[in-house]
Amino acid sequence: MFDTHAHFEGSPLETETVLRHAAEAGVTAIVAVGGSPALNAGAIAAAAAHPESVRVAIGFDRDQATAADPEVWCETLWMLVRDQGIKPAAIGEIGLDYHYARETRHEQCALFAAQLRLADEWGLPVSIHTREADDDTLRILDEAPWRQDHPRGVIHCFTGDAPFAQALVARGFAISFSGIVTFRNADPLRAVAATIPEDRLLIETDSPFLAPVPKRGERNEPAYVRYVAQCLADVRKTSLAAIDACTTRNAQMIFG
Ligand SMILES: [Zn+2]
Repeated sequence: MFDTHAHFEGSPLETETVLRHAAEAGVTAIVAVGGSPALNAGAIAAAAAHPESVRVAIGFDRDQATAADPEVWCETLWMLVRDQGIKPAAIGEIGLDYHYARETRHEQCALFAAQLRLADEWGLPVSIHTREADDDTLRILDEAPWRQDHPRGVIHCFTGDAPFAQALVARGFAISFSGIVTFRNADPLRAVAATIPEDRLLIETDSPFLAPVPKRGERNEPAYVRYVAQCLADVRKTSLAAIDACTTRNAQMIFG
């Protein structure tokens, strides 16, 4: 299985333990995702320690939008790639969250747009977070250059409605579901998950957050991505093996 979105912020020992659990659970590929200076460093360290199974995404998320100008953050990414030789599989996570920080939306939009331009320049896919910001997300995606013929990327931890999912699929994106899709009150989201085209479906943990049922309340880890896959298999009336196969294939197309 391919966990397309996990964070590594803990000690090297903790990362080793989590990655061992993942391998034992049949999770053979993981994208370690950044988003802040600390998350980028953790993701880079995890990928450096296990290049056979872990790829890295670096970027700056909505929480960094007011800490520095977009040019400064993009320069930071340039330095990681050019000076430190980091080879990212994607830029992420980036995007908008108006649930927690509506007041910084202008800065969030500027940082998001700047990193989409960088992704186009580098020919990399993006890992996008979007919450209660559907219209601005679509507008900024439509204004992005997208000159390259690379996979656009993924909307991670999707929690939107079916029309939003359709709009994103129409723009070339894959839709990734996290443990949220397993939650008891998530019937509407499960209904959306049933409608995503098979070649655009992805799974993730967003660990260490959002542990899926039946692990809710525990610290999440990539090994638990199978519960997300099983939930998708149930709502799409197919087998776990079929979900594993299509989500792994889709993730390899996007992240290599
Ligand atoms: Zn995340």
